[in-house]
Amino acid sequence: MIKTTMEEAKKRLPLNKLARRLGVAAEIPDRDGQCVRCFWPNRHPNGDRNPSFNFHAGLTRYRCFACGVQGDGPDLVGQWLGLDAKEAAQRFLQMAGGDDLPLACSRPTLRELLMPRDLWMGGDTEWKALGALRRLDPMAISLAAAHGVLRFGTVKGFPCWIVTDESRRLAEARRMDGRPFPATDRLGERKAHTLAGSDKSWPVGLLPAHPRPHNLPRIALAEGGPDLLAAFHFCLHLDVYDTLPVALLGRNCHRLHPGALAHFQGRRVRIFPHADADGGGLKAATRWKDELYTAGALRVETFDFRGLYCRSGQTVNDLNDCADLRHEDQCELEELLS
Ligand SMILES: [Zn+2]
Repeated sequence: MIKTTMEEAKKRLPLNKLARRLGVAAEIPDRDGQCVRCFWPNRHPNGDRNPSFNFHAGLTRYRCFACGVQGDGPDLVGQWLGLDAKEAAQRFLQMAGGDDLPLACSRPTLRELLMPRDLWMGGDTEWKALGALRRLDPMAISLAAAHGVLRFGTVKGFPCWIVTDESRRLAEARRMDGRPFPATDRLGERKAHTLAGSDKSWPVGLLPAHPRPHNLPRIALAEGGPDLLAAFHFCLHLDVYDTLPVALLGRNCHRLHPGALAHFQGRRVRIFPHADADGGGLKAATRWKDELYTAGALRVETFDFRGLYCRSGQTVNDLNDCADLRHEDQCELEELLS
């Protein structure tokens, strides 16, 4: 286990990176002394039109000359997520990748995840566009963004939506125009592009920008980025408030991250594997189920999409397809997260 002191953590997670991960939508300075508009514009009568906010002390402290707000990394986490000082310090250490998270160093050479420079949480335009693209409620899309598991940015030159979480162990991008990424020398054409440095054994969403994700007694374990968003959609539409949506990015994950397994202890899990024609999705779910039981999960169930149909007459393959379920099958939705 890596023991990280607070000072090391502050150096490892400077404020510009931290602010991007927290989804601060304002301009974020990348050097000391660069003034931008205050992160809290409503503390200013004029919305801080004359920028008075900056970072100093090697990007480890912030201050606003106009409204007087100031602090360090843990303070920013506390103010942004509404945590008390102790919780904020713990969360900050977690986000910096040390201390509380056992086996943070399970891979001997942990490569830093390479995120786009223009990463942000999006706004109404992006949420509506993505909702239309995936046939999901834009409200659910904005909820995922607020949880820090959905971000937007430019990847390979294309505007993209990106699933990730506060662990910063993985991120996967898909194009906003719904088209695949073109083939390169090394990679073929692909619908989703996994960002360099990703570890796909981590279920994305397990560490959201939510003050107390561990208090939610149930986990919906989906497969792939679109299904992660669909899980948010159904939690919202079925009035389910006790469930944390997470997703494994692909059925080829053979062993879950040891640090992730600890989060499943004592919780109820429902897996939503893809109904692939070759049965690979269900097979993967069986493996994950065994692992989760061994890790101490209270109950693990698998939802089977077989036999359900979309309005188009196509069979339902995944959770996202359920957003377009034919009338006769609508009653099945009640069972989805029950
Ligand atoms: Zn201010």
